[in-house]
Amino acid sequence: MANVEQLANLDLPVCLLPDFESFPEANFSAAFRSTPAAYQIHEPQILVNGDRFLSLPFHIQQAAIAHEIAHAICKRTPLQLVDPDWGIRLSEEIVADFLVCSWGLLDELTEERSRSYGARYCEILRMWPRQADFVRQMTVWYQQKLSGQARPVVDHGGSGSMHRSFL
Ligand SMILES: [Zn+2]
Repeated sequence: MANVEQLANLDLPVCLLPDFESFPEANFSAAFRSTPAAYQIHEPQILVNGDRFLSLPFHIQQAAIAHEIAHAICKRTPLQLVDPDWGIRLSEEIVADFLVCSWGLLDELTEERSRSYGARYCEILRMWPRQADFVRQMTVWYQQKLSGQARPVVDHGGSGSMHRSFL
């Protein structure tokens, strides 16, 4: 990823914590407690979730860290992926995954996403080089998710202001 232009001059600390139990989000979100990593917005840094992260295979660790870096990029230079017909903007979680794919980590990401979001989500991830198709199909997938027809994208953010996590 060293050659990725979007990452130029990005200075983002990574902090390894023993666990995520001390965060308010941990009280109401099991997904947050078990996510391997999270991006902290108010004081930008990547938080790494101790043994949970370290227990994962290296390639999934790479995807997790890349996803959090993508959140930082989304905050720095908002990348809006908008369906032109419907005018619906993709959520930052999906935009972050799009960036991870564009940085060459599609395979690393899809192994985890096939478990958490399902096969269809991964099929659409593979469309990333065709951005218009990607945006349209993700928009359809996301709307189906909202109506309960697809597996949910877990909203780890709680208040939506503090952390964005990998799983
Ligand atoms: Zn995320």
